[in-house]
Amino acid sequence: MATIFTKIIDGTIPSIRIYEDELCIVILDIAPVAKGHALVIPKQCWSSVVECPEEVFAHIMKIVQKVDKRLREVLAADATNIVINDGPAAGQEVPHLHVHVIPRYVKDGLKLQMPKTSYGQGEIEVVGESLNLSR
Ligand code: 5GP
Repeated sequence: MATIFTKIIDGTIPSIRIYEDELCIVILDIAPVAKGHALVIPKQCWSSVVECPEEVFAHIMKIVQKVDKRLREVLAADATNIVINDGPAAGQEVPHLHVHVIPRYVKDGLKLQMPKTSYGQGEIEVVGESLNLSR
């Protein structure tokens, strides 16, 4: 599937590329939450985390860690938000897996927090049991 990121990867669409290897690229987001907001993008197009081979995903996260360190070192970020919008229902606009790494500052005033809900009586145990990965 051709996505805007496929075109960025093949150079048809220009981008500011801060890293590249055989499996992924890292570019600066064109509409950043904050300056330095980076996207780590696998070169092969998988639309979601579950489609991406485990070893490629592990590599992507290794590069995310490098980008995170660089944002803290060079831009003096106090923290980062590391975000994957994994599917349209989660707000994914480009159907090509990518990880946002967003620099954050103590006084940046941004509110990226997730809204909170609650469980009914006994519900968290039932959900936990249904999701138990150790069995
Ligand atoms: P999503 O909502 O799919 O998680 O995020 C897609 C991101 O890609 C958005 O933050 C958007 O600003 C960024 N984006 C979309 N088109 C382009 C583009 O042509 N160049 C760059 N550098 N970023 C883009």
